[in-house]
Amino acid sequence: MRPICRGDRGAAVLEIRAILTGMQLVPPSPEPAEDGVFDHALERAVRTFQQSRGLSVDGEVGDETWRALLAAQWHLGARTLYQQIPDALIGDDVRQLQERLLEMGYDVGRADGVYGARTAKAVGQFQREVGLTPDGACGPHTLNALRRLGRKVVGGSPQRLREEQVFRAYGPVLVGRQIVIDPGHGGPDDPGVYVPDGPLRWSEADLAYDMASRLEGRLAAAGMRVHLTRGPHPAQAPSTLERAQLANDLGADLLISLHIDGHPNPEADGVAAFHYGTDNGVTSTMGERLAGLVLREIVARTGLRNCQVHAKSWDILRLTRMPAVRVDIGYLTSPTDRARLTDPRFRDLVVEAIVAAVQRMYYPLEADVLTGSIDVRELRAALAGAEFSSPS
Ligand SMILES: [Zn+2]
Repeated sequence: MRPICRGDRGAAVLEIRAILTGMQLVPPSPEPAEDGVFDHALERAVRTFQQSRGLSVDGEVGDETWRALLAAQWHLGARTLYQQIPDALIGDDVRQLQERLLEMGYDVGRADGVYGARTAKAVGQFQREVGLTPDGACGPHTLNALRRLGRKVVGGSPQRLREEQVFRAYGPVLVGRQIVIDPGHGGPDDPGVYVPDGPLRWSEADLAYDMASRLEGRLAAAGMRVHLTRGPHPAQAPSTLERAQLANDLGADLLISLHIDGHPNPEADGVAAFHYGTDNGVTSTMGERLAGLVLREIVARTGLRNCQVHAKSWDILRLTRMPAVRVDIGYLTSPTDRARLTDPRFRDLVVEAIVAAVQRMYYPLEADVLTGSIDVRELRAALAGAEFSSPS
């Protein structure tokens, strides 16, 4: 949908205002007749809401913000939660329930706010353990039991341990691991950040695709199974939901989403990495680790300014079930970063850095190596050696 923004009017604006008023983010307007207009106060409320949810703060209501607003209307206890088929129940109440179950050590996967089979199963397990009928639905009785017991078991991080165990079990070899590389944007309508440079036109979508295809080659050479979420010039770029769905359907082990940033201020530059996390402190620890490795390797190998790792609840990070990272590689609007990004040798360095980070994800923590020390060409050599010496 077209984002709803300042100056718009109509039913959608009324609904946005009603939700944000319910959250006490927007004061009741002095002139009720003006409620249908997207005014300055409403825009400020949208920004506050976006900030609190880890969304991009632009003051406009696009798809992602709209879904977050709809989800935000639900508070735990306001309705009975159950596995509804085919359209799963979605909401902040579901996310709160999942976070509580995760804290207690139940396996709900990621706290994504979607009441799916895994959440229903975890609720059933909890019910069995506290002597309730294990129907997998969360009504008043189950909620009471959760509230009574919920806080006792907090400590450690069961989700983190589980993610790490699964990962450790793999061993350090890349062969056969599945990775999804997601070049951001694409298609005729979405070039991403777009900067004219003399006779040239540079777009984030093209440069991200170029790096994705270089990455595909490198990772495939190291034995990984690599999938890209889009081609170079798709007639229609896949939506974020479709990209996340592809990675989930493949059962991918890792997802890396490639973007390049832009800013009205040409002085803004540097590289930042993002992993899934919420303001309640829920985080994907393996995602955080991957983000840290990607960032450090890129900084060490390219000298781009370090703009740090950040927790975000963007859809591409929230809806994917594997450790997922988005990395914003430099600013196309910065003359210094742009000069580097448009040099294919520089893009190769970035790609080598990401390959090294992926390899380090599979090393046991105690065997990890210094940033910048992995020679990516050796990965290929080691693989070839292993193949030739294989007894079968
Ligand atoms: Zn982007």
